[in-house]
Amino acid sequence: MPQEIMSNLFCIGIPLPKNPLRILNSYVIKGEDRNLVIDTGFKLPECEAALRQGLLELDIDLNKTDFFITHLHSDHSGLVPALVTENSRVYLSRIEIPWMFGDTRDALWAGDRVKFQRAGFSEEELSHLWKAPDRKLSPIREFEDYLPVDDGDIFEYGGYRLKAVETPGHTPAHMCLWMEDQKTMFTGDHLLFDITPNITHWDEIDDSLGSYLDSLRMTDKFDVQLALPGHRETGDFHARTAELLSHHELRLDESLEIVRKNPGLNIYDIAGKMSWKIRCNSWEDFPITQKWFAVGECHSHLRHLEKRGLIKADYGEMVLHYYAT
Ligand SMILES: [Zn+2]
Repeated sequence: MPQEIMSNLFCIGIPLPKNPLRILNSYVIKGEDRNLVIDTGFKLPECEAALRQGLLELDIDLNKTDFFITHLHSDHSGLVPALVTENSRVYLSRIEIPWMFGDTRDALWAGDRVKFQRAGFSEEELSHLWKAPDRKLSPIREFEDYLPVDDGDIFEYGGYRLKAVETPGHTPAHMCLWMEDQKTMFTGDHLLFDITPNITHWDEIDDSLGSYLDSLRMTDKFDVQLALPGHRETGDFHARTAELLSHHELRLDESLEIVRKNPGLNIYDIAGKMSWKIRCNSWEDFPITQKWFAVGECHSHLRHLEKRGLIKADYGEMVLHYYAT
C-alpha cells in the first residue's frame, strides 16, 4: 500500500529480493496533467509487480507519467524501459546517460573490469563476478530515450517545484531533488539513514570519496527538514550528514594505518585487513560480491589518501601497490 507523505506525494516500497538493501523507495508525485515517479526498482518481476500494484492503487496513468532517476544504479533505474510509454519523459543526469546503453555502456563496463583487475582480483574471481545475476538487473541496453539533467534544472509536478542538485560521489553525477518551499530533499543514495551509502572508486571521477565528502558538506547547507532517501527509513538529515563525515574520516585513518604497517600491499589485500560489518570469519570467506563492494570502497579511500599526499601508488604495474609517503 503506498504511503502518503504529503498532499499528492506518495512512497511505494519496492522489495529488493536477496539484497541487503531490502527496500527501494519509489516516490510518486501525482499531478493534474502529468505525474512523476522518482526511482523504480531492479528489472525483476517482483519489483515490477510491486511498483505496478502501487501505481494502480494511486490510480496513476502511465501515459501521463514521467520518470526521474536519481542515479544509474540498477535498483533505481532497472524498471524504467518496462514502464515507459511513448509519452513518457525519462530524466537522468547528463554525465550518467552514457552508462545506460549501446557502445558507450559496453566500453564503460569493460573499463570497470580492468579497474578491479588493477585492484588485485584474480581472473577467476572476475569472470565469476561478471557472470553474476546482478549484472542482468539493469535497464535493457536497447533503451536510449533518456533526457539529460543538469545541476539546477527545475521540474514542476503536482503543485511542487523540484530543483536538481548534483551530488557526485556515490555515482559520477548522482542527483538529489530539492523542494525549497517544503524544505524537503529526495536524497537518492547520496544520504541514507540505516545504511552507509557505498562509495566506490570510479575511474571517471578523480577522487570519488573527496567528491562525496564535498557533496555532503554542500547539501548540509540546505535547510532540509524532511529527507526522503532511496532506501528504507528517514531521520535527521543534518545529524546523519555529520555521522557520515566522521565515519569516512575514521575509515581513512584505518586505511592509512594499514598501508603504513604493510607497505606494498594491493587494494584487495588492504580491503582484507579493514574491518567490515559482515558475519564472516575471514576475508577468504567473504561472498564474492561483498568483496567487490569492499574493494571498491577501499580503493576510494586509498585514492583520497593519495590526493591528500599521505600515500602513493606504483602506477607502473598492472596491479596497484600502495606505500605511505
Ligand atoms: Zn546506488
